[in-house]
Amino acid sequence: MPRILVTGGAGYIGSHTVRRLLADGHDVTVLDSLVYGHRAAVPAGRLVVGDIGDAAGLDHLFAEKRPEAVVHFAAFAYVGESVTDPAKYYANNLVGSLSLLDACRRHGVTKFVFSSTCATYGTPDRVPITEAEKQSPINPYGNTKLAFERALADYAGAYPFGFCALRYFNAAGASPDGTIGEDHDPETHLIPLVIDAATGRRPHISVFGTDYPTPDGTCVRDYIHVDDLAEAHVLALGALKPGAALRYNVGTGRGYSVREVIRTVEEVTGLRVPVVEAPRRAGDPAELVADAALIRRELGWAPRYAELRPIVETAWNWHRTHPAGYAD
Ligand code: UDP
Repeated sequence: MPRILVTGGAGYIGSHTVRRLLADGHDVTVLDSLVYGHRAAVPAGRLVVGDIGDAAGLDHLFAEKRPEAVVHFAAFAYVGESVTDPAKYYANNLVGSLSLLDACRRHGVTKFVFSSTCATYGTPDRVPITEAEKQSPINPYGNTKLAFERALADYAGAYPFGFCALRYFNAAGASPDGTIGEDHDPETHLIPLVIDAATGRRPHISVFGTDYPTPDGTCVRDYIHVDDLAEAHVLALGALKPGAALRYNVGTGRGYSVREVIRTVEEVTGLRVPVVEAPRRAGDPAELVADAALIRRELGWAPRYAELRPIVETAWNWHRTHPAGYAD
């Protein structure tokens, strides 16, 4: 049973990946600060509460659990907050991640999978976006993720160490069994907000910008099911070797506009969504869609959820049964 340490395993994407790793027979330990994560998202007996920036705590954990690989999700991910409080993002996402990486060196862990993001591309020159696109983030969140990608590459060039950076597009959906799902506080993501507007938990959805150069004037994004992201991590772990420097986009390759998301939520829920047209949100590129040919070809990854509707169905299944998230 391979021993895997999952940081941020009580968060949204981390918790779905933990389920998948356990189902595959991995021996999983979750390290999570619970600043944003949920205790209830982690199976009993797997959670260690702690911080990636605590070197002594990491030494203790690595000595006790002896992980063979690390899957690193733990990060702050609010783009707007990263603009107003960059220190918080550099401290956790960069300094904390380096502390984790150095614990890997001290304890001989040579396999590392990192949660990166399409935000490292900033506003792309070409869509769909390939891994060859220039990386030029437009906010501090993206800068911290790119800085750590670069540290990983430098470490892999110098030490017996291999990494895979997975650049997620828009994570969405929930476990189809309805036991775990998306629960952010505050929630900023489109699909849960539209569902809340459909059920009346929020008065309406604000559409941020209707004058983009897209077919219906609203932003286009590539929504990828969280279990398909989880699958990419499992495949990445299997592909890692010392010296490996792997970087993959993870998206379906198909984009949906904000209006299409709203329409799909209305179809799936059978409820009407009150819409208010609002100004553009700062820092939103018009269109972000993945070219995910590389991970398909090299790792044999393919999304089970190729279209938006079944993704929204799993999200609806979670939110319908857990309107207040894990508090229910
Ligand atoms: N969006 C919106 N209203 C909201 C939240 C999001 O119109 O209340 C739009 C946002 O401008 C973006 C898309 O929905 O074009 C997806 O936003 P989200 O925050 O979910 O993900 P992001 O693409 O920013 O990572």
